[in-house]
Amino acid sequence: MNRPEVNKDFKIKSSKELPCGTYGQAMLLTETMEGWRSERPVIHNEQCIHCNWCYMVCPEGVIYKEGNEMKIDYRFCKGCGICQKECKKGCIELILEGGE
Ligand code: SF4
Ligand code: SF4
Repeated sequence: MNRPEVNKDFKIKSSKELPCGTYGQAMLLTETMEGWRSERPVIHNEQCIHCNWCYMVCPEGVIYKEGNEMKIDYRFCKGCGICQKECKKGCIELILEGGE
């Protein structure tokens, strides 16, 4: 598998161009990371209390809130499982990649 490539054309002219959350488009990287995963986290929003802890602990910064739901940008999630271990309400489940 090829290593991620740096997008040399990507230049930030002001802080306003930075993504408002920690998630984004992996900034300078053009390659996604979903191919690394053997498992993927699924958030059960009906049990979520919106404490935002998963957002804080995700090393890739790919968890974000949209409306009333916590969501995951699967293009850049590596499936490390930290969010699942850290959610005190137990509302993040890891499922096999490609499974339902
Ligand atoms: S850590 Fe769990 S309860 Fe908190 S926002 Fe994330 S999914 Fe919801
Ligand atoms: S599995 Fe890892 S990379 Fe993916 S959302 Fe959870 S903490 Fe972030």
